[in-house]
Amino acid sequence: MKEFRDDAVVLRTYKSGESDRVVVLWTQHHGKVRVLAKGIRKSSSRLGGNLETLAYVDVDLVKTRGEFYIARHVAHRERLTTLRSSYARINAGYAVVEVVDAVPSDDVADEGIFELLTRVLTTLDDASFDPMLVPASFYFKLLALDGSRPVVDRCVNCERDVPLVAFDAVVGGTLCAECRSGVSLSRDGLALIRRIVGGDLASVLREASPAGAGEVMAIALDAIEAHFGKRLRAARSTAPLAPLVPAPHS
Ligand SMILES: [Zn+2]
Repeated sequence: MKEFRDDAVVLRTYKSGESDRVVVLWTQHHGKVRVLAKGIRKSSSRLGGNLETLAYVDVDLVKTRGEFYIARHVAHRERLTTLRSSYARINAGYAVVEVVDAVPSDDVADEGIFELLTRVLTTLDDASFDPMLVPASFYFKLLALDGSRPVVDRCVNCERDVPLVAFDAVVGGTLCAECRSGVSLSRDGLALIRRIVGGDLASVLREASPAGAGEVMAIALDAIEAHFGKRLRAARSTAPLAPLVPAPHS
């Protein structure tokens, strides 16, 4: 692919040489690509402001040497001014793009991920939604997209519809007292996970701090880290995670 135009979200940027930056994009139709933005760190750069982390842009890219592209044209698709006005919203966005950057699929287009990502950005840009549980709900949706939707309506081990007391990210869901492993799960935590996974997400996100939120955020992060085998620093440093208690062996 020598040249193409696409919609994209900036996952992160990093320095390269004296005045250049590499911009990592998740595009709608071409997967993850790296753009070498020459002179972007000079104040006169036209592209600079348009290629910040979390920007939702329309890009015109040309392949250069190696793995890099050069941007011939960049324009905002959405300005995301509400998102950018709040550290809580920006941090939630960082906790999402960090995970997308960990998806092992360079140059493989995944429009499902792009769609989830842009939905996250527009949700974070909507003042009627609280940003706190946006990353956790994104992690559960990404697991589902990857064929690893967590089981939360029965014991994932014995399949019985009995009281559920634990969650194990490696086993892939909730567990009863007899089968328990992973971490203990409170009733509030279970109820909240079920609402998030079960289609009640929009009303969950309208609540400022639903019961069990810290626990569910920690469980979702454990689950996505176990799935990709990667520790997520941005997500861990900014989310108000509840400490999880290992489930006792029965
Ligand atoms: Zn069981």
